Amino acid sequence: MNATYLSSLSKEDLKRFVDSFDTVLTDCDGVLWVENNAIEGSPEVLKKLRELGKKVFYVTNNSTKDRKDYVSKCLKLNYQATEEEIVSTAYLVANYLKSINFRKKAFLIGSAGFAKELDLAGVKYVGFGPDPMPEGLTTLGSLEGGLESLLEPDVGAVLLGFDPHFSYPKMVKAASYLSDPNCLYIVTNTDERFPVSSRLIYPGTGSMVAAISACAARDPLVVGKPNPYVAEAVSKIHPLDPKRTLMIGDRANSDVLLGANCGFRTLLVLTGVTSLDDVDKWKKSSDPEDKKLIPDFYLNKLGDFLQLL
Ligand SMILES: [Mg+2]
Repeated sequence: MNATYLSSLSKEDLKRFVDSFDTVLTDCDGVLWVENNAIEGSPEVLKKLRELGKKVFYVTNNSTKDRKDYVSKCLKLNYQATEEEIVSTAYLVANYLKSINFRKKAFLIGSAGFAKELDLAGVKYVGFGPDPMPEGLTTLGSLEGGLESLLEPDVGAVLLGFDPHFSYPKMVKAASYLSDPNCLYIVTNTDERFPVSSRLIYPGTGSMVAAISACAARDPLVVGKPNPYVAEAVSKIHPLDPKRTLMIGDRANSDVLLGANCGFRTLLVLTGVTSLDDVDKWKKSSDPEDKKLIPDFYLNKLGDFLQLL
């Protein structure tokens, strides 16, 4: 955790670094692409890493797509990919529910990709899609049929991923289901914002999680980064030696922290959320939690790795 500039290593040290890992976990948004455009040079680096015999997994907190969609996006942007290599949070939640033999209904706050993963896992759910405040009402207290009419029977889990239709009625329902302590509360990730470079702030899933957690007065199970659950899921299909695993990411509090939590090497790229100023701030901080956010290495962009390989 020294935040060494990878390009500053000597040839010998670079070779030692490249030989030191055989598995690469890479984040997607802000590392491989921004929205629908590949970041220059990133596809070539992944191709080269594969040629060197490295196993690659795409580890993303984005819950809006299912694994098939991700494979299509990868191929379109010149990244080789199979479904098995995609570790996305909607899939992780669906897989988790399947693994515990969940038989009740779930209340889903999420988007189409999340719903599709639940379908594939055979998990029944309600709540998907727009759920605006009924016209003319300012509170749900005056709802015809009473508040109870809002709730479905047999809901055993509240699931939360990014939902463009997040609304007050959804908050009411989620918090009401969660008032039953036996109701599971599982969320894909806690990233507060999307990594976009403009003056507009786009709230991410984490902002929605904060709202639901506040009104339900409960903490969720988070399956996405930085929770080591992600790494456990990967190790079920491919044995992971933490010391020989490199995590690449653009966001310290999810990607680098996952690395710190799992004992991986970490490479921060500066094409997304975290800046070098952030890293300098954490270097000066005396808070041990801040120290966990400092990557082992950094590069301005992943593409710069190519000439070092
Ligand atoms: Mg990212």
